[in-house]
Amino acid sequence: MTLGLIATSSMGLDSLDIERETLYVPTRWGDVLTQRMRVDGDDIYLVRRGSIRHPLEPGLINTRAICAMFAQLDVRTVLSTCVVGSLRRDLQEGTIVSLQQFIDFTSHRPRTIFADDGFRFTDMSEPYCPQVQASLQKAAIEIDVDLETAICYVGVDGPRYETAAEVRIYSLLGGDVVGHTGVAEAIYLRELGICHGALGLVANLAAGLNADSIDNEVIGAFRQEHGEHLEQVALKAIGLLTDIGGDECQCAGAPGALQSPPWIDAR
Ligand SMILES: [Zn+2]
Repeated sequence: MTLGLIATSSMGLDSLDIERETLYVPTRWGDVLTQRMRVDGDDIYLVRRGSIRHPLEPGLINTRAICAMFAQLDVRTVLSTCVVGSLRRDLQEGTIVSLQQFIDFTSHRPRTIFADDGFRFTDMSEPYCPQVQASLQKAAIEIDVDLETAICYVGVDGPRYETAAEVRIYSLLGGDVVGHTGVAEAIYLRELGICHGALGLVANLAAGLNADSIDNEVIGAFRQEHGEHLEQVALKAIGLLTDIGGDECQCAGAPGALQSPPWIDAR
């Protein structure tokens, strides 16, 4: 089985004693730097969102290239990890969350991975793979880490943080956490027919939920301190996913028929 892991910078992956082969993969959207790890006969492709330059402003991440690379390498399942802000006071800093739904408030990202050769009307009713979500839940239980499931992620452009009024709106609409990177990759991977799940670390309460303003130094230190739990659950879940294989999961198996421009046959 071939899996992909999009690792947030909070995951140092220093505990992984596995030889990694660095590859540059050309795609129609640009080159992607990835590391191939071979674990018990399975290939795992590790990607950092900033790829060569990290950190990178969220709107400049070449998400289309990363997702296209996974498709080219015949990756069937991708696990994303991310750092999020909490829209609920009961989801405190340090909580690990598994995403089930998203609400897209981004407005400056490419809407689709397809280009002028066509597009797909893609079903997005359940954007995250149930098999990946089940593996995350099982992994958390096995290593005794608390995991909040059925989480709704609100995607915004960033890099600025939200206003207190925006946070109130997102919360009223049913959002649980907010972040800058998660929506585009969920859309493109589903468009490509790749199973995808996402695991998040709550690093701060969003604006207005806390008396203090948001302090990046505090968040940075927090990410370093609590990234370990995120990493443990992610790696355990990947092990479980390779054990069960991904062939039987059809969650992303019918991403819609390619809609070609009507004039394409008349050329
Ligand atoms: Zn699936």
